[in-house]
Amino acid sequence: MTDTVVIIGAGQAGAQVAFSLRQGGWQGRLLLLGAEAEPPYQRPPLSKAYLKGEADLDRLAFKPRVAYAEQDIDLVTDTTVTRVDRGRRMVHTADGGDFAYSRLVLATGARARRPALPGASLPGVHVVRTRADVDGLKPHLGPGRRLVLVGAGYIGLETAAAARSLGTEVTVVELAPRVLARVTGPEVAAFFVGLHASHGVQVLTGAALASVEGEGAVTGVRLADGRGLAADAVVFGIGIDAEDGLARQLGLGVARGASGGIRVDRSGRTNDPAIYACGDCTVRPLVHSGRFGRLESVHNALEQAKAVAASILGQPRPIEDTPWFWSDQYDVKLQIAGVFEPTDTRVVRGDPETGRFAVFYLRGGALAAVDAINSPAEFLASKPLIARAARIARSRLEDTSTPFKQIAQAAS
Ligand code: FAD
Repeated sequence: MTDTVVIIGAGQAGAQVAFSLRQGGWQGRLLLLGAEAEPPYQRPPLSKAYLKGEADLDRLAFKPRVAYAEQDIDLVTDTTVTRVDRGRRMVHTADGGDFAYSRLVLATGARARRPALPGASLPGVHVVRTRADVDGLKPHLGPGRRLVLVGAGYIGLETAAAARSLGTEVTVVELAPRVLARVTGPEVAAFFVGLHASHGVQVLTGAALASVEGEGAVTGVRLADGRGLAADAVVFGIGIDAEDGLARQLGLGVARGASGGIRVDRSGRTNDPAIYACGDCTVRPLVHSGRFGRLESVHNALEQAKAVAASILGQPRPIEDTPWFWSDQYDVKLQIAGVFEPTDTRVVRGDPETGRFAVFYLRGGALAAVDAINSPAEFLASKPLIARAARIARSRLEDTSTPFKQIAQAAS
């Protein structure tokens, strides 16, 4: 049998595994199977430039189509894998295809969560995960249109910003007492609430959604306290669930809990030596915080993919890099390095009122994460410091009279 790696899921993680394998000298067949209609593309612009109409689908492409042929990667789109036979090492697709593998990679990503509430599946209710989702939402945005956005995480707030930039009237409804509660501290959250308010977005926190209203199409939402909000469209940005159904079917190790995730080690190995997994469908050891978790980011998808390719090539290269992420809202660029924990000590550098500041998160006195708002120097110089858990005094971090690069160079 030809030595074949079958990769299920043609997102950024799956595609990166294929390219890294070829780069690393893999001589066998590479088959990349994806359920979506288009070749692998980048998701971040979906809630940013693509939603605003500032980037077209070609600009989203992960690689030009020709690159797959050049690297002898068999890319098959519009094809869903429905079953894997672990004993015979066969993959079966919905359209009747059967493919043998010697190594299998699960890069199946995640799906946007939809709540089980009355009206949640009415026409006019959207999520923002795929190109098709965003194409379905776009016609409902613009002057005179009202959007209710449920969930104030990064994707929700980016979608709110893009919709507002198009002239849409936007209300954000968040269950938690503050926005971005899962991912950042109160200073950054307060900054983004102020930013959205200054653009005319209403943000309601501590607000539980009871139902989506409408007959045949959305007309609004009802909150648990009885308030009603009129809407022409509703977007749920309430998180994702790992697409780990095949792994469950196969009896692989999967995280318990609602959002699931295939358990992998730092080299992307599952508990079957012939099966690997990477990207949003996984949970993995988070080296810097000592727990298992999912990092929903491009950086993680690509790093894990490279680690999987290295494992398949017999040169395991466990991930230890500082995780990073970004978010664009209006004219603000937020860059994040490391993973925030609610118990971290927070140190603010600069004045949030100026729209340019950074929040450092210290754990046991060592730098664990940073949120840098329009402050690329703080972001870039913090990454290596976080990697080596550098200890820096609060007074040094707060000292805006000294360039941060200089402070970082002097850090132990
Ligand atoms: P996915 O991109 O979800 O790809 C998985 C693919 O597998 C999908 O195409 C799916 O259809 C396919 N698939 C699933 N099951 C099967 C099956 N059975 N058979 C065949 N195919 C299957 N990250 C950042 O770092 N910065 C950002 O600013 C940022 N913004 C984002 C904005 C949006 C709107 C979204 C949705 C995500 C954003 N992210 C951002 C997160 C980042 O895009 C993801 O973490 C990353 O794309 C994950 O890649 P993946 O390949 O693991 O999963």
